[in-house]
Amino acid sequence: MSVFLHGTVAEIEQITARMRRIRITGADLRDLPWTPGMHIRLRVGDLRSPRSWLRGLLRTYSIWDYSTTGRLDLCILDHPSAGPGAQWSRRVRVGDPAALTPPDGRLVVREDAGYHLFAGDETATVAFGAMLRALPPSAIVHGAISVEGPGDRLPLDHAERLTWRCRPADRAGPADPVDPADLVDPADLVDMVRSLELPGTPGVAYLAGEARSCQAVRLHLIRERGWPRRAVVVKPFWTPGRRGMD
Ligand SMILES: Cc1cc2nc3c(=O)[nH]c(=O)nc-3n(C[C@H](O)[C@H](O)[C@H](O)COP(=O)(O)OP(=O)(O)OC[C@H]3O[C@@H](n4cnc5c(N)ncnc54)[C@H](O)[C@@H]3O)c2cc1C
Repeated sequence: MSVFLHGTVAEIEQITARMRRIRITGADLRDLPWTPGMHIRLRVGDLRSPRSWLRGLLRTYSIWDYSTTGRLDLCILDHPSAGPGAQWSRRVRVGDPAALTPPDGRLVVREDAGYHLFAGDETATVAFGAMLRALPPSAIVHGAISVEGPGDRLPLDHAERLTWRCRPADRAGPADPVDPADLVDPADLVDMVRSLELPGTPGVAYLAGEARSCQAVRLHLIRERGWPRRAVVVKPFWTPGRRGMD
């Protein structure tokens, strides 16, 4: 029996300047247990190619939206160092087959939270989007999202409660190809979270995206704001120089 669920690419949409929404449909995708915030692992390499094996056949993607009728949407960022995942998102066409693992993960909304704090970058907004859609309109939401440019903003529910900021464009300098380590300074996201006016007592924080930024915000919440560790859910998605985390 295959560990993969098999489907077909049914729709491709340029949903932000650098992100494609890719819809996969099929009978294997019906009635899956899914909680918003979960991810799948997608086969992005060719099983017959030794190069694919070396670079890693799988990449992990949050589920932007899911229907039990057998329809699952991913949003994949096209980043400057494009590895197998970003390259797959460039070359895939409607009608192509897709193989993925069932939904999994612990980055999900804690319903007993007094309020919800979201912090991360554009990749994190895919999971955050699904989680925010699942929250009732009365939920108390705070958030800080760092993006490369204004075109990187995914449409999110409760967006008026989130602070968005673009990272300085000139940080990478004239180097070509760009060193990804230069694109993100963890201090950016910490500064954004530090400036948020949060209630006096801890809520639940969901930190995702670039790994060093997640860790820096986690330390800020625990050390500077006195949050208990269990109130901070961290899921690093990527980090400069490392391939396919998870
Ligand atoms: C739980 C989880 C959920 C995720 N959800 C999403 C999602 O919804 N959408 C999404 O696009 N990605 C998501 N990711 C990240 C994704 O799995 C891949 O890491 C990412 O697509 C890069 O894969 P790649 O093959 O293109 O590059 P890789 O071969 O994995 O990496 C090559 C190099 O590219 C650079 N790099 C990687 N990612 C970025 C980036 N975002 N910005 C700038 N430079 C980068 C790094 O320097 C890295 O060493 C998620 C990861 C995890 C663990």
